[in-house]
Amino acid sequence: MKGTSKRYVEVLLPLALAQSYTYAVPEHLKEKVQFGVRVEVALNRKLYAGLAVSFHDDIGLEIKPKDIISVIDDRPIILEYQYTFWQWIARYYCCTLGEVMNVALPSGLKLNSETKVVASQLLEDQLAYLEDDEGMVADAIFNNNELGIEDIRTILNKKTVYPVIKSLLDKELIFIREELKQKYKAKTADFVCLSEIHRQQDKDLNEALELTKRSEKQTNALLAYASLSPAYEWISKQSIYKKSGADASVINALVKKGIFLKEARQVSRIEDYLGKAQSLKPLSTNQEEALKAIRKSFQDHRTTLLFGVTGSGKTRLYMELMQETIDRGEQVLFLIPEIALTTQLVQRLQAIFGKDIGVYHSRLNQSKRVELYQSAMEGQSIFVGARSSIFLPFKNLGLIIVDEEHDASYKQSEPSPRYQGRDTALYLSKLFNAKVILGSATPSLESYQNALDDKYGLVTLHERYGEATLPAIEIVDLRKKYKQGLMRAMFSDELLSAVKTALNNKEQVLLFQNRRGYSPTIQCTLCNWNAECPNCDVSLTTHKYFQQINCHYCGYHTKIPTQCPQCGNTHLVELGFGTEKIAAELSNLLPGATIKRMDYDTAKTKAQYEDIIYEFEQGETDVLVGTQMITKGLDFDNVALVGILLADKILFFPDFRANERAFQLFTQVAGRAGRRAKKGKVLIQTFNPEHDVIQETLGMKYGKYYKRELEERKMFLYPPSVRLCKVTIKHKDFKRTEAVANEIAKKLRAQLGNRIIGPAVPGISRIRGKYIQQIMVKMEKDWSKIQQIKALLHQTKRYIKALKNMSTVQIIIDVDP
Ligand SMILES: [Zn+2]
Ligand SMILES: [Zn+2]
Repeated sequence: MKGTSKRYVEVLLPLALAQSYTYAVPEHLKEKVQFGVRVEVALNRKLYAGLAVSFHDDIGLEIKPKDIISVIDDRPIILEYQYTFWQWIARYYCCTLGEVMNVALPSGLKLNSETKVVASQLLEDQLAYLEDDEGMVADAIFNNNELGIEDIRTILNKKTVYPVIKSLLDKELIFIREELKQKYKAKTADFVCLSEIHRQQDKDLNEALELTKRSEKQTNALLAYASLSPAYEWISKQSIYKKSGADASVINALVKKGIFLKEARQVSRIEDYLGKAQSLKPLSTNQEEALKAIRKSFQDHRTTLLFGVTGSGKTRLYMELMQETIDRGEQVLFLIPEIALTTQLVQRLQAIFGKDIGVYHSRLNQSKRVELYQSAMEGQSIFVGARSSIFLPFKNLGLIIVDEEHDASYKQSEPSPRYQGRDTALYLSKLFNAKVILGSATPSLESYQNALDDKYGLVTLHERYGEATLPAIEIVDLRKKYKQGLMRAMFSDELLSAVKTALNNKEQVLLFQNRRGYSPTIQCTLCNWNAECPNCDVSLTTHKYFQQINCHYCGYHTKIPTQCPQCGNTHLVELGFGTEKIAAELSNLLPGATIKRMDYDTAKTKAQYEDIIYEFEQGETDVLVGTQMITKGLDFDNVALVGILLADKILFFPDFRANERAFQLFTQVAGRAGRRAKKGKVLIQTFNPEHDVIQETLGMKYGKYYKRELEERKMFLYPPSVRLCKVTIKHKDFKRTEAVANEIAKKLRAQLGNRIIGPAVPGISRIRGKYIQQIMVKMEKDWSKIQQIKALLHQTKRYIKALKNMSTVQIIIDVDP
């Protein structure tokens, strides 16, 4: 910052404040303070680590602002472009810069008065070497396990404590508490190895074979081991099972005889990937052509939509483009919808790029996150991550890949900033003039429309890679099946026999139902009472395993009732079904099959999720019943059949995107079938076989689907033909919610007329004790008009908040909901 004497600094605080705050720079800090460093400041008697974002000499104020207390960093922690980027996000998504800062910085770089710090495992060993303030603070943290910032201030009897804390954080001796809640249990598997004695005594296994000569199974297992690992190294028990047909009892016998050593080892972890870098498989002719088309498209489009059917090998093309980019010395950002659900993909990328890849996600411990954040600034070449990795400080970004660009989890809906990761990445690419690939087997209507309008380039891959062919999709008409009495529980005769056939052929099955738990409703047969959440306008879902009925919105739960609280009737029925009931019914019908579930109940943590995948990959599971978790990026070799148990709930979800989501979901689920040489089969059970989306999925009529859906959106004025902004009003008092909603709608309508829809009560009218009303604003795609409308929304919000008794009403503005 040349040319100024830095008398005043604007400080951005990680709070939902509309503005930065002005502070004075005391003489002794003028040298140290610069753009992008954190400074310690007081606001309303609390201390914060804010960011210095600009300097000036005259504030035109009579009151002299407070001094900054200290400068925390020697080097900036954000780059100038990031500040521009944040400002754009705040403006576009109607939120404050502080909220953007909060989501953008890893928590290891955020400090405030409420921060609690805890000792790391390294602290004890280092205590003796720490001096002065650091030593004092470290001792206190070690003895108390945890300390607040205020405690530290008392201990040091100093105003300024952040530099000491930062130094201890940098040395990884302490952590900020919030992230330590994550417990991470490692997936382990048994590994075996030839024992020392046998390894030393003879190289040809003779002695060991002598010991097993009376058991053919043991001999086979031993020989299988020797052929799998000629150097007698540790290998997984599972691989010996596969090769020799041995089971656990055989291995245990070998361990007992002292031939094998056995130990549990950690397997399949993203962070600890140790695999050697592999080389890339050759491109198919189709892929070769697509790659050429992408390069050509890049010449006149910054963004290209890669529309490739499931199994066509989009990842292979990404890899090629990534390699080209890093060879030019530029960085790659690879966005994926949810890191926890993309283990397989991340492992494939790591197998090729090894250490060049940084995997950035919220479940990493904070020192690792800070380390990755800093490595972006230093030019680390590839980052894979969910939407928040757009906030990494890139040095020279050359390529952004948005995989599964249609996925709804790119949008953050809670808390603010409610940004769309894909759309925000497009703005980021502008700042670097980087190229963007949007990849999907079922592109969003927004992206597809942009491709039709030639705003994006379009490259398509219609065929699956290698010998794999697209699955055969068939419809099961549930109306007929029920009439003809051909249903067993939720299974039609057709689906059940297809499951049996697959299992007889030693192939695997995926069953999809978009609802977890046992049954979504429990009802009294006499008075029609049904169990509802006391806080939300939803019925409670039965979870047999937990012996509970649960609310999926607020977490409320209670015991499964045995009688009706209204009339005392003990005959209660469970209506509908979720994944738990499907698994239970199928176990009854096929007692010999191994059936597992993958949903939020069974795969709550990433470790659990990976265990389920691992077991399925290893062939230990015959049938996997899952929610949309099984639709995302999984690639299993041996899935012969995919069943969609009930398509109808998805088709008739009350949202303008229902058809789009249904088409995407069905197509993606179907895409899990028949990934290798064998043709897969997909069965969709539905009461509405003639529904447009069912018919389009059935024939894989992409063209027809896009045409019909885009026409409908245009006719009824929904995106992508207009932009939407949703205003949500929430309060625990119904009358007040309604009054505010009506008042806002009136104010907006006076200026915007029929662009305003509502207020309306959403499908679920109350969540966590708060009533909800919504207003939709439709905006033509015109930047200046949109900015005017947003200004009006802000103004209206401020007006309502200033009214008597209305300050507690929540008004949430969500752009592009
Ligand atoms: Zn009753
Ligand atoms: Zn609830």
